[in-house]
Amino acid sequence: MRDTRSNSYDGFAARHRRTVLLVLVTLTALFGAAYVIINLQAGKYIIAGMELAMTVFAATLIVIVRGTRRLTEWTIAFIIPFYAVMMYGFYSPNTEVTVYSWVMVIPLLAHLLLGRRLGAVLSLFFIGCAGALFYHRFGGASLVQTPGAIANVTMATATVFALAHFYEASREQAERRLARMAMTDALTGLPNRAYFEQIFEQEKQEHVAHDLPLSLLMVDVDFFKQVNDVHGHEAGDAALRDIATAMRDNVRQGDAVGRLGGEEFAILLCNSDKRRGQAIAEELRRAVERCGCRHRNKALNLTASFGVATLVASGQTFEDLLSRADRCLYSAKRAGRNRVVVDPPKPAGGAAPGTMPAPPLMSRHPAGPGQEAQKPER
Ligand code: GH3
Ligand code: MG
Ligand code: MG
Repeated sequence: MRDTRSNSYDGFAARHRRTVLLVLVTLTALFGAAYVIINLQAGKYIIAGMELAMTVFAATLIVIVRGTRRLTEWTIAFIIPFYAVMMYGFYSPNTEVTVYSWVMVIPLLAHLLLGRRLGAVLSLFFIGCAGALFYHRFGGASLVQTPGAIANVTMATATVFALAHFYEASREQAERRLARMAMTDALTGLPNRAYFEQIFEQEKQEHVAHDLPLSLLMVDVDFFKQVNDVHGHEAGDAALRDIATAMRDNVRQGDAVGRLGGEEFAILLCNSDKRRGQAIAEELRRAVERCGCRHRNKALNLTASFGVATLVASGQTFEDLLSRADRCLYSAKRAGRNRVVVDPPKPAGGAAPGTMPAPPLMSRHPAGPGQEAQKPER
């Protein structure tokens, strides 16, 4: 089964990092302008020129950062010249020694903007550069004369690095846990409805772009209320987990299974037209039937009904497709359950006004014993 979770976690992190980058570019644009004036007045034209370039770049990024999808790339494109200007300041014999206090900003920014790993790599590299430049400028005798000052900057930088690194590690972990809770169903571990819809939107974009068919199955366990009534809620929960596993184990790599709620599931079949969707739904129907579910060594003989709908136009929404699949599921229930019903695509240009939509196509109908349409419709 597909695993797009990491993408979504990245989505959560991206929102947080976008804000941090926006604050940084705004502050750089403001402070950068001030530094340009200060350095111009002091006659330090090279550093003033560099700061002017960074100020203009930062001001441009205020607009870009808000909407870009390439946040990490823009962040790297900004932070490397940002640190490079800082390094020039450390190197330049014209600047005050207090300019080295900026070294503490390196690990903080790198971690906030790029996360634990990339942040650590980038900060270690630039802190190393700063150390080498400091040694180059003040090496030898003056180094020995100021051990306290060096120890202060070194320890303060190490402290900021450790705090930023471990804070970011624990933040990423908490974010991952929260994201998992928000996106998956606690009972089965499957994507919940909101996350499934997100997967659908991503797949729809790709399938429409490459002109590939995409099918959606809607699945409802048959007579499930009786399982709870006869065997108890715990048996019902265990049965739902078994059915989820049976479906997850029988879809292809790239397909997605989600729990819509209650005893209803949805399955997204990549690169599958109506015929393929029907064939896979049949396999899944048999897989559920085979798994059947057991409780206290007693077979529950559970089955499920399937509705299949295929995306026919790029304008179709998740709700459109789901309601078409649901209509088929309704027909499957009415026809006796434990079967697959496929939605016929609408004729091109849509049905003529006043005409009834074509009825769904029925596939196999192996109604289970005693499973006639004896229950009221869903
Ligand atoms: P049909 O074949 O028409 O679908 O019949 P059904 O009994 O499956 O349908 P109905 O909608 O009447 O019942 C669904 C039942 O699913 C009702 C509810 O008690 C049960 N259910 C929903 N969610 C859960 C759950 O998380 N755990 C358990 N154990 N039962 C659940
Ligand atoms: Mg139901
Ligand atoms: Mg049901």
